[in-house]
Amino acid sequence: MTSVDVAVVGGGYTGAVFAIHLSRLAGRPLDIAVVEPRKRPGCGVAYDTDDPDLRLNAPLPVHFVYPDAPDHLSDWYADQGCLARDPGALAADGSIYMCRGDFGRYVEEQFRAHVDGNPSGSRLRHVRSRALAAHRTPDGYRLDLDDGRTLSAGLTVLASGYDCPRAPPPFDGAVSGHAGFIADPWDTARIREIPADARILVLGMAQTASDVIAILLRAGHRGSIAAVSRHGLYPRRRPPAIPGAVPDVMERVVRPVSLFTAAHGRHESVRGLLRTLRSEVRRAEAAGGSWVEPFGDLKDSVWDLWPALPLAEKRRFLRHLRAWYDVHRFQLPPQVDSRIAGAEANGQVSFEAAFCVSAACDGGALSVTLRRRGGRECHRKAFDAVVNCTGPDMQPDRSNNPLVASLVACGYAAPHPAGVGFSVDDECRAIGGDGRADPHLRIVGPLTYGAFADQQGAAFIALRLHRIMPGIAASLNR
Ligand SMILES: Cc1cc2nc3c(=O)[nH]c(=O)nc-3n(C[C@H](O)[C@H](O)[C@H](O)COP(=O)(O)OP(=O)(O)OC[C@H]3O[C@@H](n4cnc5c(N)ncnc54)[C@H](O)[C@@H]3O)c2cc1C
Repeated sequence: MTSVDVAVVGGGYTGAVFAIHLSRLAGRPLDIAVVEPRKRPGCGVAYDTDDPDLRLNAPLPVHFVYPDAPDHLSDWYADQGCLARDPGALAADGSIYMCRGDFGRYVEEQFRAHVDGNPSGSRLRHVRSRALAAHRTPDGYRLDLDDGRTLSAGLTVLASGYDCPRAPPPFDGAVSGHAGFIADPWDTARIREIPADARILVLGMAQTASDVIAILLRAGHRGSIAAVSRHGLYPRRRPPAIPGAVPDVMERVVRPVSLFTAAHGRHESVRGLLRTLRSEVRRAEAAGGSWVEPFGDLKDSVWDLWPALPLAEKRRFLRHLRAWYDVHRFQLPPQVDSRIAGAEANGQVSFEAAFCVSAACDGGALSVTLRRRGGRECHRKAFDAVVNCTGPDMQPDRSNNPLVASLVACGYAAPHPAGVGFSVDDECRAIGGDGRADPHLRIVGPLTYGAFADQQGAAFIALRLHRIMPGIAASLNR
């Protein structure tokens, strides 16, 4: 058994950034192990790619590892000559939408630089393994790894990110085993293997669906691509940026009271928030602006607005408004957006608000019955491939990640009552089944959605880690 001070489970963006910041702030040399089965630490699901079509969904300055050094990434990008290698990163409005793979390379390099040396003299290492289960010990947790090793740590940090989307009904039965059903939309190699003339159904219309469509189009796909979702909401088109107007996220988020609350007072209902937002959008449009600025003020205030909402309001938002919020929140890189718009204009790609009523295997094809939103009539269509882009699964109590399942089963960490992610306190300490915050277990990143709601974008994850790290470092001094 190996003993360390800190075991970070999951070495995607969140786990790597956590380890980097801890090694910078720790008051004594710590032994920090980042358990991550991928070869490249720092990349995770979003950035472990070299696909040229997968770009960051917002301009370069809105992504960082060091919130207090916002130019660090732009300097690295320039030093590496990334733009010369990838001129397509430059959008018409002058913003840079870098490849997600380049961003992953940047985070990986930062992590490796801190393995080589860091301000606290900590030992930082990448343990290439997968954690299967956790057991509480008198002074922390012991983790079982999939290579038979065990790791015990005073502090365990769960940064295991997203679970692959779950096959939704009616694709969750026999159909899920059909060769044409692609359950994992992040398996881009599999997407590229789809025959060029296949008729494709994409379940979902958000960012992952756009990634899949962009990959298919670049690969020269000739067959039809139909994307369907229940709401029929497609990510909003991004108006051209005003030069020099990329907001300083740190300045907008690290403040005593959020911009939205400072301007409009405290809101305790989703309806009230929506009403205020709508009136701000009307005001902006009357003055020649657009929805982007008022929505941006709301988005950059979620850290303050969400915790103030009663539980019933949080559930209401998740049930009725999340899809609407997400299509404004997660816009597409313009390069991807315009390629898809071109294919939509020539009829190859279509978007439809529809329910999949039934699905059946039909030889080499999948026969799917669809019902248009608001309509009664059904129509049946045959597809050669169906790609599941319905979004990551965020419910720990039905997770297929064995470690997450073990934390829930043992009551070490309780699912958030809003129904997404885990319950944690302000400092990301896991709240167990007994309702108590556990100083030996922290949960960070997207798995804290229920508690913070804004832990999906890289900047917001880094900002929260920046905010809680002094307290974590101090707790490890004792
Ligand atoms: C397709 C996609 C595109 C995105 N694009 C953007 C973008 O452009 N800009 C932006 O700001 N945000 C984007 N996001 C949001 C993005 O998720 C966050 O920016 C951030 O990358 C989340 O990282 P993470 O490390 O928490 O999760 P993940 O990327 O899911 O990484 C978690 C890691 O944990 C490991 N792991 C899981 N379970 C275990 C275990 N039991 N033991 C050991 N290791 C384990 C996995 O192997 C994985 O590498 C995107 C998300 C997705 C899914």
